Formats: sequence, C-alpha cells, structure tokens
Amino acid sequence: MNIAELLAQSARTFDQRPAVSLGGAIFCTYGALRDRAAALAAGLRARGVPKGGRVVIYMGNRAEYIEMLFGIWAAGCVAVPVNAKLHPNEVDYVLANCGAALLFTDNAEEMAGFDKTVAVESPAYAALMDEPAPFRPAQAAPEDPAWIFYTSGTTGRPKGAVLSHRNLWAMTLSFLADICPLTEGSAALHPAPLSHAAGLFALPFVRRGAVNVIPESGGFDPDELVQLLRRFPHSSFFAAPTMLNRLTACSGLDDTAIANLDLIFCGGAPIYVEDLRRAQDLLGSRIWIGYGQGEAPCTISYLPPHMLEPDMPESWLGSVGIARSGVTVRVVDDTGTDCDPDMPGEVIVSGDVVMAGYWNNPEATASALREGWLSTGDIGSLDAQGVLTLKDRSKDVIISGGSNIYPREVEEALLRHPGVIETNVIGRTDPDWGEEVVAFVVAQDGVTAEDLDRFCLDQIARFKRPKSYRFVPALPKSSYGKILKTELRRMLAESEPPLEWTLPKAT
Ligand code: AMP
Repeated sequence: MNIAELLAQSARTFDQRPAVSLGGAIFCTYGALRDRAAALAAGLRARGVPKGGRVVIYMGNRAEYIEMLFGIWAAGCVAVPVNAKLHPNEVDYVLANCGAALLFTDNAEEMAGFDKTVAVESPAYAALMDEPAPFRPAQAAPEDPAWIFYTSGTTGRPKGAVLSHRNLWAMTLSFLADICPLTEGSAALHPAPLSHAAGLFALPFVRRGAVNVIPESGGFDPDELVQLLRRFPHSSFFAAPTMLNRLTACSGLDDTAIANLDLIFCGGAPIYVEDLRRAQDLLGSRIWIGYGQGEAPCTISYLPPHMLEPDMPESWLGSVGIARSGVTVRVVDDTGTDCDPDMPGEVIVSGDVVMAGYWNNPEATASALREGWLSTGDIGSLDAQGVLTLKDRSKDVIISGGSNIYPREVEEALLRHPGVIETNVIGRTDPDWGEEVVAFVVAQDGVTAEDLDRFCLDQIARFKRPKSYRFVPALPKSSYGKILKTELRRMLAESEPPLEWTLPKAT
C-alpha cells in the first residue's frame, strides 16, 4: 500500500487541523496538505515524470517539504531527499546515480546545470500545483521504492539505500507501537534535517493528525527550539546527540518549555553516558534513544526511559536498548555464528525496516544483505536480556599491539573528566604497535594532556589510553551532527606536533 495513504485518512478525519506549521504560524491544514500534495502529484505526471521516477529534494527544512514527499509518493514516484549541506557537485553525483527525473531545491542558482531543476520559491513550483486534483495515490506494491537514502559516503562514493513502501509503513507502525501514543494534539518539531531521520519521524505524526512544525530558521537553533517548545504543548523531536547537548546547555530552557516536551528521540551517533546523565537530570524521563541507519531506519533498537530507572542494570545506561517491534537483532562472529552474551561481534538485523538493497549497485547490495540479514558494520554485544551495546563501527576499531581498542570506550573515559567538553578518538599508524590511539579534545582552559593521561590510567587499561592528545577548539561535524573521523584523520595527516602532546615512546 502506498505510504501516501497515511495522509488520505488523516485529511479525511482531521481536515481542519493544522498539518504543517512554519514556526508558530499554520502553513496548511490536513485538508490543504492533501489538496496541495494531490495537485503536486498531478503536476508531476503532467510534466512527464513517470511512475517510479526519482525526484530529488535538495533543500533545508521548509514548510513545503512534507507536501513534496506526499505529492511524490501519491504520483507513484520515489523521493530522494539529500542533505542540504552537500556541495552541488555531490548533488550532481546523486542526480546522475539515481537518474533523477526532477530536482526540487532552494539552491537553484547552484543547480542551474541540471535542466530539470524546479526552485521551490519560483513560479515554476507554484505552477506545478496549479490544477486542483483529487488525492488518489498511485497503486504501489509493498516492495516498490518510496525513498532513496544516500549514505554519507565516508568510505567512497555515497550509496543509495532503497527504502520501500513496506519499510516506511513498518517504521511508522513500530514508532506508534514502541515509542509513544501520539494524538492529534501532539506536535513534531523539526530542528533536525528532514532529509534524514527527522523526515521519517514526521510520518507517524501525519498518521495521527498531529502538527509537523518547521522552525523558521530551517534548522537547529537552541533558542528558537525553546520558543517552539513554549508554543506547542506535547512536543517531540528527533535530535542527534550534539543537538541534545546544545539544548541542555541553553540558558533559556525553562520549566514551561520542559513541561511541554513529551519526548526527544535521540540517535544517529553515540550518546555518551555523561551527556545522557546530564540531559536526564534536566529533562527527566523524556529521552528515548534509538539506533538505526539509512539501511534500516528509525530504528533497529531503542532504549526507552523506563529502562534507565535506578533499579535497572547500570550497563544499560550506555546501551542502545532492545530490538524494535518487528526487528530481530543478532551479534555474530566472523563465521556468522551467534556470539555468547556480552561478547562483541558484528550487529546484523532483519525485519521489515531493512532496505531492499542499494540503488543500481548489486555488488554493494550482495555484501550488505545476506539471506535477509543486513550487515550493519557496527560492532556490538547483546547481554543475556537482549540489550544491545554498541562498541563502534568496525572500520573505526583501533588495533594496537594486536589488541582491539574501541574508541567509544576511551571517549567515555575522557568525558568523565570535568574539564573535557567533547572528544573523539582515532587510530594512527605506528611502526611498533600497528596503530596507536590519538585523542582530539575540546577542553576547558587549564586542562593538560598530563592530567588526562593520569585520569585515563585510573580508569582504563594502560594500552587503551591515548598516546597523543590534540587540543582543538571544536570537532568537525556533519550537518547530521556526526563527528567526522575522516576529517580528524586528515587533520592528523596534515599537521604534526608541536600542536600535539605525545607520550614518551617507552610507555
Ligand atoms: P546513518 O546511516 O548515517 O544514519 O548512520 C548510521 C550509523 O550511525 C550506525 O550504523 C551507527 O554506527 C551510528 N548510530 C546510529 N544511532 C546510534 C546510536 N544511538 N548510538 C551509537 N551509534 C549510532
């Protein structure tokens, strides 16, 4: 069934309710959203975009985003939302790779080279919706593609994970089953990019006839978010961990704003224990952690707040919780055999949220999907109760002197130091050890490498402690809030000490 049917039912029942709000101002009701999406679907067909045609959306969060998604799906086309912060050359790659039939963008000048560009602010976009039309979503088989999600491509060219209508239904239903009982009085705020998890997060809210709120800034501004929280009771939003940290540090976050907050669904990158504790102290039981990836989105597992109550095992605090409804999670060794409880191995996943494969890339599909199981590339362990803890991406594991060091463990240790604001750990080739641990640290004034070395010696095995420290004013991050290890590796390759403090070789 076409995922656009979500909107058909909500528009019928909640015709007059606000569907999309731009800041505090209603942009359209559910009735209007349906009519705009219907007209857009008709406009796409009239323009010759065929069923199954790919329509790329390259823009920041705007009120038109939701109608675009539903218009594209209603026409039987495939939405390809891409990160608004991509360079136009990178978008060119996506356009060519997916064979785009059309591009919607708020950056038309830069994309002028593509002859099927429609600028969202231009009369051409309005003209696409000129003719009113009935909302009759095209027939879609469950396995038909609905959304192509391009990976960030940190290890080569981005790959397009193809999400089917079935995938989007599964993730919508499991959100309603596992996470929260939304009502038409709920509000989804969208400070995080709609091209990523936040766009998927919008769907259960549409199902319930709740409002999707787009910040006027088009992104994440903690003060603006606090204003929106004050304005919308029963608010929820998806946040990357860095956003959660910035929100909890925001001085404007007061009791009124917090009282209006139902939940923050936090994921996309590791949430460190110290950060989670701080957020919980301030926000109480409102933080839900989710672990997913473009290939199995929104999400594979979740850690609900009740699993963080004081009577629960302490180790769950650093975990990503249990498998979502309809998802099976295993941890396996190199031979594909299930690991014993608490033993690390690769996380593999099956269920209706797992992608159909990569677009036009049978080799990558064959190596990621085997007999219905998705290899996530993440190393983790399951405890006896089925709670999953992630160690790191397998490619980020540091092997020093033959021992595996998970950067996350070292980062967690460093973050317990009160003067450490942020940190990230990577490996550097070393002639003696194979690799050695280097820590990038954002710290308060006065914190020294010697302090941190002593601090680590008190907490983790000697061989795991960083051999070098590099103090930096900020860590490089993607627009999705992920720390860019590739960028750290580049920084390390391009500049050498004296910026850096290095342990004497013998230790
Ligand atoms: P992406 O496909 O860009 O969303 O990236 C997915 C990857 O982000 C996963 O394979 C994990 O390595 C990481 N990730 C996502 N959510 C979490 C989480 N809650 N904790 C730790 N890592 C996460």
